[in-house]
Amino acid sequence: MAYITSDQLLAKLRQEIKEISVHELADKLDKGEITLVDIRGRDEWDQGHISGAAHIPRGFLELQIETRQANRRKPIAVMCAGGVRSLLGARDLQTMGYRNVVSVAGGFSGWKNAGYPFVVPRTLTPEQRNRYARHIVMPEVGEEGQLKLMDASVLLIGAGGLGSPAAIYLAAAGVGRIGLVDFDVVDTSNLQRQIIHRLDDVDKPKVESAAHTIGQLNPDVSVIGHRTQITSQNAFNIISQYDIVINGSDNFPTRYLVNDACVLLGKPLVDASVLRFEGQVTVFDTTKGGPCYRCLYPDPPPPGEVPSCAEGGVLGVLPGIIGSLEALEAIKLILGQGDPLVGRLLQYDALDGEFRALNIAKNPACPVCGEHPTVTELIDYNQFCGVPPVEVVSANGAQAAVSA
Ligand SMILES: [Zn+2]
Repeated sequence: MAYITSDQLLAKLRQEIKEISVHELADKLDKGEITLVDIRGRDEWDQGHISGAAHIPRGFLELQIETRQANRRKPIAVMCAGGVRSLLGARDLQTMGYRNVVSVAGGFSGWKNAGYPFVVPRTLTPEQRNRYARHIVMPEVGEEGQLKLMDASVLLIGAGGLGSPAAIYLAAAGVGRIGLVDFDVVDTSNLQRQIIHRLDDVDKPKVESAAHTIGQLNPDVSVIGHRTQITSQNAFNIISQYDIVINGSDNFPTRYLVNDACVLLGKPLVDASVLRFEGQVTVFDTTKGGPCYRCLYPDPPPPGEVPSCAEGGVLGVLPGIIGSLEALEAIKLILGQGDPLVGRLLQYDALDGEFRALNIAKNPACPVCGEHPTVTELIDYNQFCGVPPVEVVSANGAQAAVSA
């Protein structure tokens, strides 16, 4: 049986496949005339590659080329490290009917040695690739999305019923910096729903207890505990340190204060509330044209006019569901995927087992984000301080309960 050596094979391919120099490649890339496919291995790619190149390792070339270039007539340049594997790759593309395939002589080494620019990507460690494997495999996240999560920062107002599941899922997802604002200590009565705390944590500050749980879950995450009440004095300073705010607060002063601070700072606010068997979640982002909390409820109700949530109670699993939805909305904002709940209020009735979404509009007369704002600085609604969590019924009948 006749055979040829690998040297003979390459000599034969050099006859059949057109090669271009790295200089010709640079010229064609400048003019946008060619699709560059880098077929090196993952490790080689990670050590540096040409910006804009498609990375398809040699073993996947035939299987994935059509996702990058399906048109058989369009020019493709195949590149490897030195210009040898690219001959084999180019031959295989020709076999698939690609008529205008060239191999880059000298490969990436030639490109680099000629002084052309390349990028060295930030990458995940092998441990992180393993930890986030179920994210990375999804095209909507991928390694790029995972890096976005790891670069992101989210502030949670309250480490209670809503803040617990939100913090746990954000930490598990690898959100790089999580801030927690909470003044309280853990009480046994919290454990019915505040799943970030444990019996051993009773009487400890909630921010410490939450930081400990997150540390046990994911060492990639840094937790910043703000053991304070958020006030007009510190709200700008704290909130400005984060990309996104999640509200899990249990009182009106905080709800208005955080809303106003987020509007004035241009930060997206994921807002939610729960009461008994019902919960709701939305995203207030006035920078995207959406409404804010004051668009719905311009001013706090008079003290004493609303029933307290402590009286009403809350089924423990409900903040678990709603707080998880808050984490999910924050992750969508970080990844830039899907439709965030901007201008939509998602309501969940646990007894009926039904979700429904209501459209909520920006109010042009809103006192903080409207056309003629009257709230231009932060307000402490002191008359509400210390009152139990409350529920408010708006003029249109939509219920806004405040979290437990
Ligand atoms: Zn508004």
